[in-house]
Amino acid sequence: SHVLVCGGTGCTSSGSEKIITTLEEEIKNKGLENEVAVVKTGCHGLCALGPIMIVYPEAAFYAMVKAEDIPEIVEEHLLKGRVVTRLLYDETVTDHGVTALNDTDFYKKQHRIALRNCGVINPENIDEYIGTGGYEALGKVLTEMTPDDVINVLLDSGLRGRGGAGFPTGRKWALAKANDADQKYVCCNADEGDPGAFMDRSVLEGDPHVVLEAMAIAGYTIGATQGYIYVRAEYPIAVERLNIAINQAREYGLLGKNIFGTDFCFDIDLRLGAGAFVCGEETALMVSIEGNRGEPRCRPPFPALKGLFAKPTILNNVETYANIPQIILHGPEWFASMGTEKSKGTKVFALGGKINNTGLVEIPMGTTLREVVEEIGGGIPGGKKFKAAQTGGPSGGCIPAEHFDIPIDYDNLISIGSMMGSGGLIVMDEDNCMVDIAKFFLEFTVDESCGKCTPCRIGTKRLYEMLDKITKGQGTLEDLDKMEELCYYIKENALCGLGQTAPNPVLSTLRYFRDEYIAHVVDKK
Ligand code: SF4
Repeated sequence: SHVLVCGGTGCTSSGSEKIITTLEEEIKNKGLENEVAVVKTGCHGLCALGPIMIVYPEAAFYAMVKAEDIPEIVEEHLLKGRVVTRLLYDETVTDHGVTALNDTDFYKKQHRIALRNCGVINPENIDEYIGTGGYEALGKVLTEMTPDDVINVLLDSGLRGRGGAGFPTGRKWALAKANDADQKYVCCNADEGDPGAFMDRSVLEGDPHVVLEAMAIAGYTIGATQGYIYVRAEYPIAVERLNIAINQAREYGLLGKNIFGTDFCFDIDLRLGAGAFVCGEETALMVSIEGNRGEPRCRPPFPALKGLFAKPTILNNVETYANIPQIILHGPEWFASMGTEKSKGTKVFALGGKINNTGLVEIPMGTTLREVVEEIGGGIPGGKKFKAAQTGGPSGGCIPAEHFDIPIDYDNLISIGSMMGSGGLIVMDEDNCMVDIAKFFLEFTVDESCGKCTPCRIGTKRLYEMLDKITKGQGTLEDLDKMEELCYYIKENALCGLGQTAPNPVLSTLRYFRDEYIAHVVDKK
């Protein structure tokens, strides 16, 4: 038998370390250590059901396992071959025994590319990554493809940046390749800071080598020999697994000098972020890697021309990199066959808020919000009504019930005043006050503003004060108009993306839920 136990942050916080030690002890007590392998994996996505355990060959999916349950699982399942039905995830229990996890409502509409190895392999063992086709794409690129071939594959695939802005990845790489320099850099943005977002953390914890492999491919393509992963220090498991992965890749000759016996040399180092949201902005991130206070720089020049240490640099986020080896191996047509006309492939979302299946999902672009909430997410607790979903965190906006059937892609979300963002998706039900939601996100950006430019430093603070006055029942209708005017002023004049998008939660709630604002003001007519 093969027992997979989730070692992601969610399950670790609900006690999976203890489950693993108890399981190993019990297996030893029963003399099964040569027959049963225990594997600590990354996240399966159903974070609210942790600690999670899957026992093969039956693929029995045990949820909310406690250390006290382990003797029964070992005795009944591992020794006698009888699945412990009372511990199974409800949707996998049938009259005939256990159904495959992939047939459950949570998984059947998902398509896992970026998350394909999460919950499947041991992220601390490079052999398991190699065993699932890992580093094959790098080998193919170095021995069979020119840098222009790689760029053409990415352009044809239609891959756009998963950090939120959706810039075509192939174009970004082509720009950096075209700029000659004695040194270039490849960076990875793993400074995931949106409240409620944990997509990148799960990839780093569950499949760190995929990021290293994709960064090496990027290095070859643009002509860089050094990469940096900027990861938040608040992700200790991700940092530990990245360190293990980098060391193993170096030992295997997959990072360092003469990779795959070619002339190509490339290495990667980690840089830890100290918890500033603004350091997820590309220029601030580079300034921080340089050892300075993380404040954004004016653009242009763009990083492809003058980035880290004033050299041509590309920066992509974790999820973007996680797609690239698969695109190289399966071809651009395969990737472009999924999704909508202008948004290809899949997108990972962190589902949170008022939803039954809190966790991580990867869906083809074009899946509707209704499918995500009602089918994959299992609906809203207590049979309450869907009111809105917030995508893009503090930079995004809300999607109200009238757009419940909108296919999710970059352009559709922008057309309704929201944005894809990096993938946080927070569901609100009929009990949520949308003015409070806007205030929550604005308070976050006010706190996180770096203070470099006036529209953001002072504008967001004044906006917050107006919103606060309204929520205390002291605002007027005139205040609503002033607030809207200030939102547009900040958007147009702030220096970086943080300030330019900070008013979005206010603007989108004003657009769709103005009646709720009016209900708070003193002169309602
Ligand atoms: Fe700093 Fe805000 Fe200006 Fe960005 S918009 S530079 S976060 S003050």
